[in-house]
Amino acid sequence: MPNVLELFKSSGALLEGHFKLTSGKHSDVYYEKFTILKQPRICEQVCVEMAKLFENDKVELVVGPTTGGIIIAYEVAKYLGLNSIYAEADPGGKGRVFKRGFHIDEGTRVLIVDDVLTTGGSIFEVIELVKSYKAEIVGIGEFLDRSGGKVKFDYPFKALATVDANAWEPENCPLCKKDIPITQRGSRKFQTA
Ligand SMILES: [Zn+2]
Repeated sequence: MPNVLELFKSSGALLEGHFKLTSGKHSDVYYEKFTILKQPRICEQVCVEMAKLFENDKVELVVGPTTGGIIIAYEVAKYLGLNSIYAEADPGGKGRVFKRGFHIDEGTRVLIVDDVLTTGGSIFEVIELVKSYKAEIVGIGEFLDRSGGKVKFDYPFKALATVDANAWEPENCPLCKKDIPITQRGSRKFQTA
């Protein structure tokens, strides 16, 4: 098995430095998920490794949340010889819905996949949606667990790689205190704030 963590680092998906997260907190690690998702050959390799983690679990359907989860569910399902569907944000409220005629039969053995676990918010929404179809969740797979082990699921959870990422409120950020320039997330060039 290729070292997935090294692959994330060497491809530039996993960055170490000083970052402002969408939550407003500052962190010393940033995962730019589309660095992997935009490269089909690398993404496929990573998804094959994820599929192998669950290939003995008699999975019948792979489900992912938009946006990255669409690609990951598709690639994992392709390796396992299955179908994949994706859960979209409910335009009318909170949580997730299936559109496009997607449906899960009662009792279907479902694998839920996504790229990076931080708070687990989108995965918990997919879990609720899948449960509403009385399907059986047999596993949850992520490329990267950066939750520090804080997020717990009632289902078998496997991640291809784990990082210890610190996140601080800006006023408590030790990197700011050291005057380390902050990296604007998503920018091509590293800029100072
Ligand atoms: Zn900072």
